[in-house]
Amino acid sequence: MVTGAQYRGIGMTSQRTRERLVLRLRERGIGNESVLQVIAQTPRHLFVDEALASRSYEDTALPIGFGQTISQPYIVARMTETLLSRGPVNKVLEIGTGSGYQCAILAQLVKSVYSVERISDLLDRSRRLFYQLRLNNIHLKYTDGTQGWSEKAPFDAILATAAPKQIPQALLQQLSTDGGKLLIPVGADGSQALSLITRQGNDYEQEILEAVSFVPMLAGAD
Ligand code: SAH
Repeated sequence: MVTGAQYRGIGMTSQRTRERLVLRLRERGIGNESVLQVIAQTPRHLFVDEALASRSYEDTALPIGFGQTISQPYIVARMTETLLSRGPVNKVLEIGTGSGYQCAILAQLVKSVYSVERISDLLDRSRRLFYQLRLNNIHLKYTDGTQGWSEKAPFDAILATAAPKQIPQALLQQLSTDGGKLLIPVGADGSQALSLITRQGNDYEQEILEAVSFVPMLAGAD
């Protein structure tokens, strides 16, 4: 991660503002110190439009154009913490690159991240930002994430940041058979539940974690 003045930010995007966000996440129950440290050092203001930079360290989702949103920091922290909570994770697939923020957090905590997005403008913007921030372990693809990324499977974990009505079969198939985890919001607008599915061989165990609100996972590239 680059630490030049441009990336540290000033005023409402300063390191102190970021530390306040971390404090807020702690209060909300995030306890994984590595996750909190990565959030403290990642310039979220670069992942949103300049006009919204002053709000970028509030614990809230923000618009990123094309009707999409950058996820709320609490949700990013919670999902990342959950993925890392049960043993080492090397290779992760993310569905819905969006602003790139969740992807950038993950990339600083695992060996490699694969991320797919169906809106090419968002993907291009994220690609440029990852290059600037020297996050070299991220692999991007413009595609419909309901199909996963079969050429790169299996994955230790798959994290979806858009909500399908039902869990896509392809994602279950692309999990590693030895404890692979799929973390995915499922359901219609207004009634989604964050689900954690763990695979052992051909057994899939499902836990419901909490009520969430994500943009819908749409089929097909745009
Ligand atoms: N992880 C992102 C969240 C962005 S919102 C972030 O941190 O900013 C969810 C994203 O999922 C949107 O960019 C949307 O275009 C994308 N998406 C929705 N359905 C998809 C699909 N089938 N395949 C790939 N991306 C999808």
